[in-house]
This record gives sequence, C-alpha cells and structure tokens, in this order.
Amino acid sequence: MNLSELLAYQSRKYPSKEGLVTLDDRITYAQWNQAVNQLAKALQRLGVNQNDKVVIHMSNTKEFVITYFAVQRIRAVAVPINAKFVFEEVSYIFNHCDGKVFLTDDLLFDQVSSLSEIYDGIFIKTKDSADGWLAFDELLQAEESSEVVSDANEEEEASILYTSGTTGKPKGVVFTHKNILAVASMMAVEMEMKPSSRMLHMMPLSHSAPLHLFLIGGTYVGATHVLAPTFSPDLLLELVSKERTTHFFGAPVAYLMTAKHPKVTETDLSWMKSWVYGGAPLSQSEVQFVQDQLDIDHLYCVYGLTEAGPNGTLLMPQEHASKAGSIGQRAALNCEIRLVDSEGQDVKPGEVGEILLKGEGNMKGYYKDEEQTEKAFRNRWLYTGDMAFKDNDGFFWVVDRKKDIIISGGLNIYPRETETNLLEHPHITDVALVGVPHPDWGETVKAFIIQDGTIEDIEAECRQYLHARLADYKIPRLYEEVTELPRNATGKLLKNKLREKARQV
Ligand code: ATP
Repeated sequence: MNLSELLAYQSRKYPSKEGLVTLDDRITYAQWNQAVNQLAKALQRLGVNQNDKVVIHMSNTKEFVITYFAVQRIRAVAVPINAKFVFEEVSYIFNHCDGKVFLTDDLLFDQVSSLSEIYDGIFIKTKDSADGWLAFDELLQAEESSEVVSDANEEEEASILYTSGTTGKPKGVVFTHKNILAVASMMAVEMEMKPSSRMLHMMPLSHSAPLHLFLIGGTYVGATHVLAPTFSPDLLLELVSKERTTHFFGAPVAYLMTAKHPKVTETDLSWMKSWVYGGAPLSQSEVQFVQDQLDIDHLYCVYGLTEAGPNGTLLMPQEHASKAGSIGQRAALNCEIRLVDSEGQDVKPGEVGEILLKGEGNMKGYYKDEEQTEKAFRNRWLYTGDMAFKDNDGFFWVVDRKKDIIISGGLNIYPRETETNLLEHPHITDVALVGVPHPDWGETVKAFIIQDGTIEDIEAECRQYLHARLADYKIPRLYEEVTELPRNATGKLLKNKLREKARQV
C-alpha cells in the first residue's frame, strides 16, 4: 500500500460516494481520483520526476487535496505549508527543501508572486495564469483522466512537513508512506471511523494532525471530507448541522470559542461521534465548560508532535471527568511510550522525565540535517523534548517542554505550571514566562503579562496571588505588561522571541 494506491482503491470501492465537499462544490471519490490522474499527468508533462519536491501553499481547498495525492501518484514529495505563512517563511522553506514546484491559491497569490522571479521552478496558481505562473484549472483541463499507477514502496519518502519553529528555525520532518499510513490507521481505529463517517476539516491541512490523522485517516476508511477554508465557530456550528459531520479536530482554543458562541445551545450537534483536540491541554474547568455548552460527552485529547507523526497518547472521553489536563494513560495504537531521566533510565512514578515515543509513525528524519536526526533518536526511540510525570493511577501529565524549563539557583522551574496558575486570575488574559540570565542564580524568571486593565500594580498583584499557590522559587522575579505575545500561525507561543526580548532590556 502507498498513499496514491489508497485513494485509487477507495475510488474503485466507492466511486459514486461523496469524497470531497467544499463550501461551493461536491465531488465523488471517482471524480477526486480522476482529477488526481489529470494533475499527475500535467506535472509529469512539466518534467516533475520521482523525489522532486512540490510545495503546497494552499488553504483547505479541493485543490490542496487533489495536489497532495497527485504528488504521491508520480512518486514526488509533497511539502504542504501553512497558508498564513508570510513571504519570508515561504521563501525559506521553498529554498531549504529544494522546491521544484510551488502551488498557491489565487487568494494568497499577491504575497508570494515574486517567488517566480527569485527561484527557478514551476509556479502554479489556482484559477488564472499570471506572468511566470501557470493555472491549475487549465493544467487539469488539458489532460485526460485515465489511471496513472504508482508502484511506490512504503519506505519511499512521501512528504516533508516543516515544524512551526517555536524552538528555532523550521525543521523539515520527512515521512515515508509507511509512517503516514501507520498514523492514519491508528486514528481510524481509535476514533472508530467508518465509510459512513464525515470528517470536518477546519484546521490547516498543512499540519500533521489534521493531515495525517484526519484527512488520510478518513480516506483510510473511505469517509467523506468536508473542507472549510478556515476556522470560525459560526461556520463550525453551521457545517456540523448542515453536513451532518461526525468527526472534528481542533485546537483547544477552537473549542473554547465555540462554547462561548451564542448559537451553540440551539444547534443540533448530535451527528458528532468524536470531538478531538490536541496540541495543548484543556483544564478540568475548561472541559466542563465545553461539555456543558456543547452538550457533549465524547471529547478526546491527542498528545503527539510532528516528528512522531503525530502519534503519541490519547485521553479518552470517560477519562476526562477526573483526568482532564493529562494526556491519558496509554500510548495510542502503533506507538509505545516511556519516561526517562537525563541518563536514559526509566523514572519512577511521580518523577519528571522526558517522554520517548516509539512506533511506525515516527519520522524518517530531518531533511538535510543528519546531526539533529541523530540527536532525536536512540534505539528507535524518539526523544520528544517534552517533560512529564506519571501519577499514581498511571496517567501522564506534561509539565513543560525541556527547552522552556528555567533553572534558577539549581532548581527546575516549569513555566507552564506558573502560567496555568496566573491564567486562573480573573483579570489576567494571557501570560508567558521565560528565563533571563542572572549573575548569581544562573537564570531568573521573567513574566510577560496581558491584563484587562483593572490591575494597578501588576507585580504586587501577581506576587500576592501566586504566594498562596506556589513555592516561592516558582514566583517570577521580573514582570512586564504587554499588549500581545508573539505566536506562530497555529497560535503557539514563540518563547525564543520572548527570551530575546527579555535579554534586550
Ligand atoms: P516546534 O517543534 O518547532 O517547536 P511546534 O511546537 O508547533 O513546533 P508541534 O509538533 O506542532 O510543534 O507541537 C508538538 C508539541 O505540542 C509537543 O511536543 C507538546 O509540547 C505539545 N503538545 C501536543 N499535544 C499536547 C497535549 N495534548 N497536551 C499538552 N501538550 C501537547
């Protein structure tokens, strides 16, 4: 099996079944597969060969999905990137991955049009051609749709996903067909996906969870995909009830926004079988709020990272009642988990250690970076850089990322713990802690805080508030009020930017 054959197989099995549904179009599995054949032929005619890199800079459109599979069909390598990336990010990745083809939406064209002047390559936009740019629609129309067969073996490279770079420059995570199919089949089994399932895609398909877990996972069982260009609570409520979708994946913030939407209580959400979130936890009180407002009891939390496919662990619906905030008590299908100390020895329950993951979903390696690839693995275990402990009931709790830990006076401070406490303050709306060099202590803790304008002396208020909740060494020594915090396209905090800012003062 390879990714191209997966789609071809489903189109033979379910030719007239709805494959892709967008806001203004609906196509069957057979039509989807035919369009893939047409684009595959067009790319071949343009001279795109096995292992060439095809960068897909598109939002969640039909064209994105057709391109992804057409690239697999000619044994080239897909490089999907976030549609919100600005020119510098796009240019860095196109150059770094040795891009041969670049595809973008007409709506995104203005911000990337000059790429064709800077780089050699084949540049394609969706509807109309432009100077140096071919049109996707015209390329498709010029080809007939007879089957193109890929005999790629499962160890071949299928795609490169660039990590969002919260820990430095984006790194190209290389996946084989086998890696992706292992993660997709895991999700299909764990979420009980069926041919009758209807997947709602609102998170960017350029990221590993939406792409591998839900787009490929759903295709693994022949499900229907409903594609929305972007997330909004309004659209989510509308599409769930209109399209009778059954599976949704979103960041925790998507759930909180939906739960606050005035229409939530009057919308029929009963079609939904799995509400899945990941990338960050939802606290016990947030889970309660989301469940009450949406009137649901089947929330799943996935923990993972791009490098792991993102396979990792699952917190099941029934476990949310007492263990929300944790990442569950077991690795998902096709995966194993361990916690180890700095010597690589397993830690005892209650002790904090680094999470290691092993499974077929783990990446092949980082593109053109053997040193980082070697550092990431030992005996096929992936070193995740996430620190966690196991409680007495066997549940794993992530305390922070290794790189974000602050060591002050020899004591480890996990910023996430202090941040979570501060976020419970009724007038603090956002917060981030970083370490700042200190002559005596090694590092000291600085807090960047956003408040709603009611607190007069932020430092005094925070100190007093935290005093009753945390040991003194975990309380920040320095405070700065800000109006926004630097975040990447998926909303994750860019702590390296904050560390630089803190050092400049
Ligand atoms: P970079 O690797 O460049 O920093 P990134 O943070 O966006 O980019 P991702 O692979 O998207 O990389 O994020 C994975 C990280 O998100 C994990 O390593 C972990 O720290 C965090 N994470 C993922 N799921 C959860 C979860 N359910 N609970 C807590 N943290 C999570």
